[in-house]
Order: sequence, then structure tokens, then C-alpha cells
Amino acid sequence: VIQLGQAERSVTTTCAYCGVGCSFKAEVKGNQVVRMVPARDGGANAGHACVKGRFAWGYATHADRITTPMIRPSVDAPWQKVSWEEALAYAAGEFRRIQAKYGRSAVGGITSSRCTNEETYLVQKLIRTAFGNNNVDTCARVCHSPTGYGLKQTLGESAGTQDFASVLKADVVMVIGANPTDGHPVFGSLLKRRIREGARLIVVDPRSIDLVRSPHVAAAHHLKLLPGTNVAMVNALAHVIVTEGLVDEPYVAERCEGPAFEAWREFVSRPENSPEAAEAITGVAAADIRAAARLYATAGNGAIYYGLGVTEHSQGSTTVMGIANLAMATGNVGRPGVGVNPLRGQNNVQGSCDMGSFPHELPGYRHVSDATTRALFEDAWKVRIDPEPGLRIPNMFEAALDGSFKGIYIQGEDIVQSDPNTQHVEAAMAQMECVVVQDLFLNETAKWAHVFLPGSSFLEKDGTFTNAERRISRVRKVMPPLAGKADWETTLALAEALGYPMHYSHPSEIMDEIARLTPSFHGVNYDLLERKGSIQWPCNEAAPEGTPTMHVGAFIRGKGRFMLTPYVPTTEKVTRRFPLILTTGRILSQYNVGAQTRRTANVAWHDEDRLEIHPVDAEDRGIREGDWVGIASRAGETVLRATVTERVQPGVVYTTFHFPESGANVITTDNSDWATNCPEYKVTAVQVTLCAQP
Ligand code: SF4
Repeated sequence: VIQLGQAERSVTTTCAYCGVGCSFKAEVKGNQVVRMVPARDGGANAGHACVKGRFAWGYATHADRITTPMIRPSVDAPWQKVSWEEALAYAAGEFRRIQAKYGRSAVGGITSSRCTNEETYLVQKLIRTAFGNNNVDTCARVCHSPTGYGLKQTLGESAGTQDFASVLKADVVMVIGANPTDGHPVFGSLLKRRIREGARLIVVDPRSIDLVRSPHVAAAHHLKLLPGTNVAMVNALAHVIVTEGLVDEPYVAERCEGPAFEAWREFVSRPENSPEAAEAITGVAAADIRAAARLYATAGNGAIYYGLGVTEHSQGSTTVMGIANLAMATGNVGRPGVGVNPLRGQNNVQGSCDMGSFPHELPGYRHVSDATTRALFEDAWKVRIDPEPGLRIPNMFEAALDGSFKGIYIQGEDIVQSDPNTQHVEAAMAQMECVVVQDLFLNETAKWAHVFLPGSSFLEKDGTFTNAERRISRVRKVMPPLAGKADWETTLALAEALGYPMHYSHPSEIMDEIARLTPSFHGVNYDLLERKGSIQWPCNEAAPEGTPTMHVGAFIRGKGRFMLTPYVPTTEKVTRRFPLILTTGRILSQYNVGAQTRRTANVAWHDEDRLEIHPVDAEDRGIREGDWVGIASRAGETVLRATVTERVQPGVVYTTFHFPESGANVITTDNSDWATNCPEYKVTAVQVTLCAQP
């Protein structure tokens, strides 16, 4: 046991949890972290931190870590420990055998938003070169892919518009479908500070999140809408802005496409988009919607922050576009204190998307069908790039079930626990002939794996993460990789085994290649990051010091484009059999599927997922606090303990998904966003019944 104060050195690195991207000084003795101290000069956190980054690093050396490569011919067979060379040769041989038998497109890969930019760049490069197809996707598919789509369509860039500090200049802040004090705690504290200073707050959320309940932050308005009705709400807010003359006409005339704006003005003015119509859909009083719209539209600076409560819906992309419409109509894009700001879930969601981890886009969000972009990468990589988009994650599952997709390389992502409708995912995994999992632990997905390649934690590697404000920060190696290879080295070794050697001696050289090939990264290099600590892209000839606020003077796409956003109800309906709506979220001390935080002392704060149910619904079912309840949906069923609370409204229940045994995604369905296939985690019709302890 090492005592505090015994640290021999301090290494500045970046938190591996949420999209805030806090900077820490890791105090180290030998190869062991003594403590993590939030960095006062951290660009995103300025000395602040939360219980995850501060205390939950112990998973890196947990006894569950797998540090030896393993193979097995079938998922029923026992794992055999083998050398790196043997495991990589086996994986490469299987991928090549599958391609010879089923075709070039029968294999693909998934990148992780928990890995560095350099690592995700390498995985998509491996897929596009060694595999020769575009079958690469990222876990952003299941969280913020609608952000990428919606913001690109309207503003021209798939990223948030502001730096976090910008919120300190906001007069009105609208938080839609996000729970910053739990999901993004350091930003949540910054927001609370601004509200205490006098800014007004509008919360649009089906549940009473802490921002609403905090005695220090009285929300000006809480629009407690029904899950699945965001689009009706956003359209009603727009209706008020248009019909009450609150549009910033000079801004729109100068900055936005005229015909698209006029079409949108006519669309949102229709009676079906009025607050009165929305009241019947959302359950929120029309007067409250009108008051909130007036408050936002008349703010000197109005800022919108949103999260997965916006994106994880069948109309996730539509809501993102609706939010961008609101901001453009009120002139709230292009200066500090305003903007459209997605709160990204994982530390490197922004980065994994930037790095070309989508089946239709090369790094820098350039479509694979664009011949000029392909030529650039073909010249650099010396291969032909397929002009056809590849398979998204759900398409991979479908293709596996129809027998045309047989092999997958998964880096740092537990798709069996994190993707919806677990039964469907497992059925697809069972059809594959070569599943290669690269991870820290034998997770739920590894149960279906044939090859296990030990992963490396953020403490064991060099690289960069990009946070929700587009801030690129260094990740620095604190200790040697426990299994002998950092994740980027493992991908290089697999590429070599597949006959496509890549030559990098350090992640800085990978970043140099990214910068060379990606206009918004042209100015990024490790020397600059060393000097500045961090930098926000775009960073290039036009913006050598980076870009805290985007779309200043003009939108990235030139003129901003209003998009029509008709409300289409989800197909997930309540019925007599499934009369309640389940929605999901997260809590402060745990992170995502819990693979990391469950293996730390943070379980002392929270060691199970519970079902929140309103007292009226609980009483109807004879359920009391702490009782075990069965939850059944059209997809599956599971058992949890109940928390009876008015945080949820009647007819709505809520749970988190941090513990595999709770099986939250056994219940969620295959419904997904129409544009991006982001799953509709936030709306599942369920029945809840009292049951015996399992
Ligand atoms: Fe910061 Fe997020 Fe890490 Fe907490 S989890 S320390 S808010 S980056």
C-alpha cells in the first residue's frame, strides 16, 4: 500500500470517463498511481473534477484484467492462453479465411469512444485497407450519431458550437434531455454557478433531474414532457418564436438560406405545431411552453445544451435539427454565451467520430463517395477505397443473421451489454465465425469471442482524446501496458498479420498523418499540444490557435439551413399489456456499462440499478420502496428493485444500465432513429409487477 505523499513523479493526462475531458496530474510511485489531482491549468476543468475521474482509476490494475492473449475454436471451448504472435496470426488467418469463403464484405470492425483518437484512426484505417471495405462503425452509433447528422445538415459541422466556459456568458440556458450534474458533473457545476449568478434556466426533461430539484438552482421552467415527444415540444417552441415576432430577422436574413427559412416559418406556424397541440402530445401546459419560448427567444444570449435524451429516439436526428433551427431563428449561434451544445457521453465520442469511424465517412466527416477525398486517402494509404458506405452496427447484426457477415474486430466496446435488445445482439454474435475482442476484461461480448486481445487502460498509453467542446488533450503513459502492448500497438500488429504493415513508432506520428489528411486538424501536432496543453479544432492555417466558438460570422456550410421537422410518433406504444413508458439514464458515481467504475470503490455509492416508479403507479401494483419488481417489454424481461419517487411522472418509469445483471438492455427494443439507426433507448413500453426476490 502506497501512502499519500510518496509520489515520485507527476504525469499530466486526461480523464477516461465523460465528455468533459478533465485534465489530471497523475501522481505516481514506481508504476502505481498514488492519486489523481485535477489540474488547475486543465482547459476543460480548471482544477475541478468529479468522483469518477478523481477516485475511480483502480480498475486499471484490477485482478479481473486479462493480460495474456487467448484463443478458442468455438465459444463452447475453453480459452487457451497463447502468445501475441499466435493470437494475431490466428485472428488474421480467420479473417482471411472468411473473406475467401464469404467475400470481402463479410468482415468489419467497431471502434471505441474510450480509446484515443490515434487508436480509432488506426482501426478505421485497418478496416479500409487490410479488410478492403467500409464496414467500420463506432459506439457513437448508439449515442450521438444523430448529433453528427443533424448539426451537419443545419450548421455544416458535426460538433458542438462552443467551449464549456461560454456558458458563463449565457443569460438563459435551456437543457434538453441531459442530466449534467450526474452525466457531466464538472460542466454541471459550471452551469449551476452561472445560474446562481443570475442566468435563467429551462429544463426540458421527463424526469426531475437534480438541476430541477437543487435548492441552489431553482429552474425557471421545467417542461416535464412525456418520453418520445421532443419534436412536438421543439416545434411548439418554434411556433411561439415565429408567431409572436421573436425571430431575429436581420440575423436570419444575413446568415441563413432564405427559402429554407421561409418554408420552416410556414411549417412551424401551422396549428398542429402550436403549444396547444403540443400540450396534448407532451403533457406540458401550453402556457408553460409559451413562457419558456419567450424567455429563450428574448435572452441576450440564449444557449442550448442537450444530451442522449434528445438523440436516443426514433426522431433523434429530427430533434437535433429542430434545436439548431431554434438557435438560428433567435440569432443564438456564432458568439460566446450562445450555441447548440451536445453533451457527449463518453470521453472520446467526438474524437471517434472525427477520426472516420463511420461506415460512410472518412476522417473529417467526408463522405466515402467523394472522389477527391478518396483520392487523398488512396494516395496516402496506397489502396483503393470502396466508394460505397459500409455496414452500420445494426446492419452488421442483420447481416450476421442472414449469413453474409461472419467476422468482427471489436476494440474496447461491450456491444452485448450496451446495445439494445440483447437477445437480438446475442443471436447475431452466435452466427459469427471469428469474433475478436480487444478489451481490459472478459466482458459480456467476450462470451461470444474466439480471440481475446488484452487491451490497455488510459494509464498505459500515449495519445489524445477530444472532448465535447472539440478540445484535443493529451493522454500520457503513466505505466507500461500490463499486457505488453498499448491498444494502438495491437492494431498495428494485427494489420501486419493481415499483410498491411503500418509504420508508426509513436502515436504522435499517427496524429501527424491525421493532421496532414484532415483540414480541420491541419495545425494539430504533439509539440503544439505540449505548449498549449490542449486545443480546440478546427485548428489549421485559418485558426492556428484553435476555435473555441464556431460559426463566427458565417456557418461552416456557408449559410445556415433550416430543416423541416415534422413530429412522427414513435411506434413504441403503450397498451393494456405494456402500460408504462421506461426511459433510461445514468448516475454520478457510475459510468456507462460500468466495466470500469464497478471495479472501483465507487460501488460504495451505488451498487445496483433500480427502477424508479411514481407513487401512484407503485400503489396500483402494491409496490413499496425496495421491493423486487419484474419489468417486461415486447423485447424481454428482467428484475430490479424499486425506488418509489415523484422524480418520475405517473406512467413513466426509469432505470440506469450500469450493471450487467440488471439487464436494462434486455428490455429495450430495436426501434431506432430514422436517419442514423441510433437506438431508441429512451422509450420502451413496459409492464411492471411485484415479484419475489430472484
Ligand atoms: Fe471530469 Fe467527466 Fe472525468 Fe468527472 S468523469 S472527472 S466530469 S471528465
